[in-house]
Formats: sequence, structure tokens, C-alpha cells
Amino acid sequence: KGAGRNRFSFFTPALQEAAQTRVRLTHDLRSGLAEQQFKVVYQPIVNLQTGAVHKAEALIRWHHPKLGLVSPASFIPIAESSGLIVDIGEWVFQQAASQVLQWRQRLHPDFQISVNKSPVQFHHDDSHKATWADHLNALGLPGSSIVVEITEGLLLDTGTRVGDHLLELGDAGIQVSLDDFGTGYSSLSYLQKFDIDFIKIDQSFVKHLIPASTDLALCKAIIVMAHALGMKVIAEGVETALQRDLLIEAGCDYGQGYLFARPMAAEDLELYIQSR
Ligand code: C2E
Ligand code: MG
Ligand code: MG
Ligand code: MG
Repeated sequence: KGAGRNRFSFFTPALQEAAQTRVRLTHDLRSGLAEQQFKVVYQPIVNLQTGAVHKAEALIRWHHPKLGLVSPASFIPIAESSGLIVDIGEWVFQQAASQVLQWRQRLHPDFQISVNKSPVQFHHDDSHKATWADHLNALGLPGSSIVVEITEGLLLDTGTRVGDHLLELGDAGIQVSLDDFGTGYSSLSYLQKFDIDFIKIDQSFVKHLIPASTDLALCKAIIVMAHALGMKVIAEGVETALQRDLLIEAGCDYGQGYLFARPMAAEDLELYIQSR
């Protein structure tokens, strides 16, 4: 103001535009759920040693009426800061639960679907709500039909009841997967404090996987230590046959990536599995 009217020193037009986009997307996210603009797609998780596909990850998609397909990388953070992720995440879980019920009947009795759960959902007080375990129970499904994907940041966040939440999941038989492993600050030994079932090696390590590389040494070390601690390993972002072969040789348990399949509609995943 001191510099005179109609002047913007720090709040540049670009920043203003970004802020406006945020406000607009927050508003649109709210109506989007009611207007059924969201869809869940599924990406197969392949057993690298046997080739079997008995697992898939649920990933949300948003078909915005004007903007078209909006990537989760751009709307999940907005859903988190506005708190809308609680309702959106609950919706994704319920879709995944209905889907795994069908796939356990049609594809494999042990089929499992992984669902991403944001730290915001853990911090939200949902004591008045039915838990995921209750919901699965009502469908006649065991806890082991769902895997919850969390990120390292959640585990480092002390002072909340995250540990208790994870214990509750474990008691219900719901497994826990640590997503994007290697991008945060937790050590594998630290993970022993929590009941983690799967480690997902972040795609940034898989991307440059070639023989005799540092990334290969890192992947091998993660796999050996995870196994010593009783955890299974899933490699994310497997795009080439060479990456797959190196991972198999390194003893990696599962792979997920465009080499096998992109995330797809539920009907397509069924066809994919039946054609394998
Ligand atoms: P994420 O959980 O780590 O999911 C893996 C991401 O990698 C997905 O991106 C997937 O499409 C992509 N991907 C899989 N294979 C490959 C590959 O071979 N190459 C490359 N370059 N990418 C691959 P997507 O679907 O865009 O999701 C991005 C992120 O958004 C997710 O990362 C997750 O953090 C978040 N997200 C997606 N759906 C949900 C949800 O329902 N709830 C929450 N809380 N977060 C979600
Ligand atoms: Mg994930
Ligand atoms: Mg467990
Ligand atoms: Mg990931």
C-alpha cells in the first residue's frame, strides 16, 4: 500500500492465478463428489517370481466437466489442505471394498486391493464413524482383502495416535504398505516399531535401474533388509524388461508399472488377468 495504489510487489499475477485456481478447485472438488465425477482405476501388482496377479492398487481419477482429466498429483494436495480428502478417501475405500468382494469371487479368493490413505485421514477424528474393518465385516470380507498404503512422513509424525491406528488395522487383519519408500527419512530398522507388511520402493530408484548401478545396490539392500524384517517388497514404476529382470534377480517380490499394465477401469483389469 505504501508504494501506491494498484501495485503488486509480492503478490504477482502468477501467484494470484495459482491462488484462484486453488479456490476454484476446492469448490469444484466439493461438488465433484456429489456429481459423480470421480472414478477409481486399478493397476495390477504382479508377483515377480510366479507372474500371478492377485493384487491391485486403487487410484482415483477426476473427470472435471471443464478441465477434463485432472491428475491426483494436483488435486490430492488441495483435497488434503481443505479436509475434503476425508470424504474422498472414504469413497475410494468403499469402491475398493465392493470391487474386491467381486474379484474374490470371480478372479482369486485371496485377491487384495491397496488403498492410499492420506495422513490427514489418520489425523481426522473419526471415532463416531464406522471403521474400515467394520465396513469389510459387513460385506463378509476379511481384513486381509484390503491393504492400506501410507507414506513415511506419517510414521515420523509423533504425538498423534498413528501407532494406535496402525495397531487397530493390524488387529483387524488389514495389512499396511509403506509407499514411496526411500524418498523420506525413515530407516528400515525404525519400521520395525510399526507392523508394516509391504515396502514399496519408490519409482525414482527403479527408473535408472541398470546393471552395476548405485540404484541397483540400493534396491538390493532394501530387499535384503526388508526380508530380514519379515516384510515383502513391491517395486513401483517398472517400465522395462531389464528393470524387471534385475528386480527378479535381486529377489524383489512384486512389481507394478507400465511394463505390466497402466492403471485401468475395473472391467479392463478383469480382461487383463483373464488374458494372461
Ligand atoms: P502412488 O500411490 O505412489 O501411486 C503410483 C503412481 O505411479 C500412480 O500415479 C501410477 O499411475 C503411477 N505409475 C504406475 N506405474 C508407473 C510407471 O511405470 N511409470 C510411471 N512414470 N508412473 C507409474 P497416479 O495415479 O497419478 O497417482 C499419483 C499419486 O496420487 C499416488 O502415488 C498417490 O500418492 C496419490 N493418489 C492417487 N489416488 C489416491 C487416493 O485414492 N487417495 C490418496 N490419498 N492419494 C491418492
Ligand atoms: Mg500408492
Ligand atoms: Mg500386519
Ligand atoms: Mg508410490
